[in-house]
Amino acid sequence: MIEQNAIREIRINPIVPSESVLVATARSMRPRKAEDPAPRDTRKYVDTCPFCAGNEQMTPPTLAAYPNAAGWQARIVENLYPVLDDDGRTGSLVFGLQQAIEGYGRHEVIIDHRDHGIALHEMSEEHLALLFGAYRESMDRIYANDARIRYVLVFKNFGPAAGASIAHTHSQIIAMPVVPENVHNEVTYSRIHYRKHHHCIFCSLIDEALTFDATIYDRTSGKVRRRISVGQYIVERGERFIAIKPFASRYEWEVHILPLRHQSNFMDITEADRGDLARVMRRVMGRLDAVIGGAQYNFFLHARPRGDEYEDCDVSYHWHLEICPRTSIPTGFELGSGLFVSTISPEEAAERLRSVDLNEEHA
Ligand SMILES: [Zn+2]
Ligand SMILES: [Zn+2]
Ligand SMILES: [Zn+2]
Repeated sequence: MIEQNAIREIRINPIVPSESVLVATARSMRPRKAEDPAPRDTRKYVDTCPFCAGNEQMTPPTLAAYPNAAGWQARIVENLYPVLDDDGRTGSLVFGLQQAIEGYGRHEVIIDHRDHGIALHEMSEEHLALLFGAYRESMDRIYANDARIRYVLVFKNFGPAAGASIAHTHSQIIAMPVVPENVHNEVTYSRIHYRKHHHCIFCSLIDEALTFDATIYDRTSGKVRRRISVGQYIVERGERFIAIKPFASRYEWEVHILPLRHQSNFMDITEADRGDLARVMRRVMGRLDAVIGGAQYNFFLHARPRGDEYEDCDVSYHWHLEICPRTSIPTGFELGSGLFVSTISPEEAAERLRSVDLNEEHA
């Protein structure tokens, strides 16, 4: 049985057309039950936790501390179990068709906050601005220290469903000698769009989200087939940043945050940018937490990679932050087809996120 107004359509990602998502809101298509939200560890201090304030001797030495080592609010250390490290090996291994590039790079951990179990939306805006500053500074330091690094990926896993192995709130930085494929695809497709239209596709999507309104009529009956108010994809708007629910989201509650003014490089953010980004981020996370209830998520930064072949992408690429809450586990259909299934329409998800009444008492 199909529910009223059920959507069942394959949506093409406007930026990377090789990626698509199946939006199927009919009940029969609901492929699995979302995992029960894991009970959150809200403790402030855990004596066995290496990331808690006071236990600094349990981690590798501090690489950077903000605002200072004694009264740190955020602290960066090397990862004890790096997936990539810079032990001096270089070169790639080629063996028939099976090629491999030596796992060279850097892996650092940013301890986001002194408090063990604090959620992002519970941190102050000032704190989040400091954290974004720490991201920026670390990326800058890593790029400056090693010319071989092509991409520095900043990301965060929060909650066991998102793969976080240490409960204490933290982000990670992995610096790589190659540009990850999904960044490369976004860069490549947005460059093609720019060459054709002389306009950044991300900027166009923002413009569309802010202004576009249309009605689609049925060709034979003349009846209204669908009304599109593209503004329905906006989750949050700041002075300098906007949070959008992508039209073809892979994850049901996925939200992207982008600078309103064109900017390709995260390194170019100013102090004022950081302040507004912190405000938008905090409000978006508050909305997600209210709707999902104890959001477990991944987020990551996509910005222009380093390298001569990306020089021209300053005009065509637009950095952004992708937040992917993990409310379900990909099934065989998704892994086998590459087609992610969304059982809530992005329009409805955005509406529900927008309608959250944010309690502003801590703002
Ligand atoms: Zn801790
Ligand atoms: Zn742009
Ligand atoms: Zn991206």
